Amino acid sequence: MRYWITGGTAVNGNGSFPADVLVEDGKIRALGEREEIAALCGEDLSGGRPRAGAAGPDQGDFQIIDASGCLVFPGFIDAHTHFDLHVAGTVTADDFATGTRAAVRGGTTTIVDFATQYPGESLAEGLANWREKAEGGCSCDYGFHMSITEWTPEVSREIDAMMNAGVTSFKLYMTYDTQVDDKTIFQILRRLKEAGGITGVHCENSGMIAALQEEARAAGRMGVESHGATRPAAAEAEAVGRLLRLAQAADAPVIVVHLTCREGLGEIRRARARGQRVYAETCPQYLLMDDSLYKLPGMEGAKYVCAPPLRGKEDAACLWQALAAGEIQTISTDHCSFTTAQKALGREDFTKIPGGMPGVETRGVLIYTYGVDAGRIRLEDMCRLLAENPAKLYGMFPRKGILAPGSDADIVIMRTGVSDMITAAGQLQNVDYAPFEGWKTTARVEQVLLRGIPVVKNGKVVQERQGIYVARGRYSL
Ligand SMILES: [Zn+2]
Repeated sequence: MRYWITGGTAVNGNGSFPADVLVEDGKIRALGEREEIAALCGEDLSGGRPRAGAAGPDQGDFQIIDASGCLVFPGFIDAHTHFDLHVAGTVTADDFATGTRAAVRGGTTTIVDFATQYPGESLAEGLANWREKAEGGCSCDYGFHMSITEWTPEVSREIDAMMNAGVTSFKLYMTYDTQVDDKTIFQILRRLKEAGGITGVHCENSGMIAALQEEARAAGRMGVESHGATRPAAAEAEAVGRLLRLAQAADAPVIVVHLTCREGLGEIRRARARGQRVYAETCPQYLLMDDSLYKLPGMEGAKYVCAPPLRGKEDAACLWQALAAGEIQTISTDHCSFTTAQKALGREDFTKIPGGMPGVETRGVLIYTYGVDAGRIRLEDMCRLLAENPAKLYGMFPRKGILAPGSDADIVIMRTGVSDMITAAGQLQNVDYAPFEGWKTTARVEQVLLRGIPVVKNGKVVQERQGIYVARGRYSL
């Protein structure tokens, strides 16, 4: 089947321009003016514009998709999701089936989730577990980072096999029970540099947080508000700074995942000034929400508990400036959903609130509305942050992340100038609340193609194509 997407404005990381797109056998075949596409289709244009429905099997095996007045993006990539994750004594509300259905609805055609090495497991076992979870049915394409929690000579020897299996990025935690110590971080940075892999790190100083939690407990401050208070920006900035010094000594590139604050950004700037290769990711919640939400009454604030926590408004402003300046390379979601009933596990003790929130469904419309439409970033910045840069950083470019001949036909058709609102009632995310409940959006994802087949039509998921595992190459950003 061939599809001819006509009348839209194509957006790539280097700009936007009016263009039709011809899709054939799952790939983008051509991008250009209507006449050029028509010539390729062998279509006689004397009758004027191609019309929806005009082409049946008799007139050639292509269908017209009308994108008039819409933006046409390469499929968005969300390189930070947690589906079907057992954590904090419970399991995330979204599994791969519900999470990826919500993802494509929001224009995300590829996710990169975190396969995790549980205690005593090899990396191969961890990866096999996660591939099995995902093979139960995914609505978008998927790949995996590998979270390393135990580092032994055997695990070190597995790195090349992981790279060959298309797992080329690895995740380390500087906090939680999955944390690794400085010696391990250094050794892994060295090993991954040698193998050509790249390391993403959750940066928070676990000792500082543990001490502050003890103080809060001793003072009887066990409510949600203590979540933010016990994980200060200094804890993040210290860990970012330490990581970057380890990376400097290891002479290795590194990714700071979910950067939240001005002070952490300052550490990244200093490392870059030293000549280091540092990449940074942030998330919509850190750009659009702030820590005043933790003061909401009862368990309301628990909906926004995540780590690192939400920060002040000035931090968000600083992150937006850094996005516009190209200092932050990707916007992912850290989608890690729990229902309000699950959040209530921490009713008596804020440290027991499962951390994380949903977001995989709403990233595109939020970043368009509050980034592009609000004049904070440009349209091509949005394309780089949501598609091109994650594709490059995680070894999928130019197969994904760009509208170009030969690339996978993962395509998002977004209508702008609309007046919509985010609600829990209207979402596919398998959660009973929406963090952005009631937020207005000026964009709507109308159609999505996954490798050349429509999977969202008129804003509804039609699931006519299953997602596949994407074996990724080395980073190239
Ligand atoms: Zn995460």
